Amino acid sequence: MLKSWAVVPTCLPIINRRCHGCASQRLRASGKFRVNANHKLIDTWLLALCTECGETAKLTVLERMTVRTIPSELLDRLHANDPGLTAELLQDPDVQHRNRFALDWTGAWRLDTGGSDHLDLDLDVIEVEVRNAARIPVRPARLIAEGSGLPRAEVDRLITEGKVVSAARLSSRLSGDFTFTLKR
Ligand SMILES: [Zn+2]
Repeated sequence: MLKSWAVVPTCLPIINRRCHGCASQRLRASGKFRVNANHKLIDTWLLALCTECGETAKLTVLERMTVRTIPSELLDRLHANDPGLTAELLQDPDVQHRNRFALDWTGAWRLDTGGSDHLDLDLDVIEVEVRNAARIPVRPARLIAEGSGLPRAEVDRLITEGKVVSAARLSSRLSGDFTFTLKR
């Protein structure tokens, strides 16, 4: 039996980056963009606010781009402060790298087990594919415990005994899709 679970964001993650106004390392996206046009060149920033002092930080999205090279759909979304675009850009590795920040997803996601609360553990073999489109770092053993309704210690025991198997390393943090098989 194949089940599908998904790790889904419930809100925007915290941006781990040093505030220029205080010692805080935590910024929150404001949901707004700033677009500056200078002749035919466009600069765009995603604005974030320090969670401690409220100082605004500008995260570079586009730098000195000529207007005609920017898809008009993207410009429309920037001008409209599209909330989905904020989420996409925060998860974009290029944007993260350019602005030197990491994301803190603590409390900003949930596990969607697709309706049925827990796995039907009476079945001999259950295969579960876990999708994680936002690449949120998760601890697989904790996730399996939550989704199956088994105590965490029981999941750890099943992993040790080879009754929960996966091509992924279940003991470390994962931030991508993975599949595991539970054998009773
Ligand atoms: Zn601050």
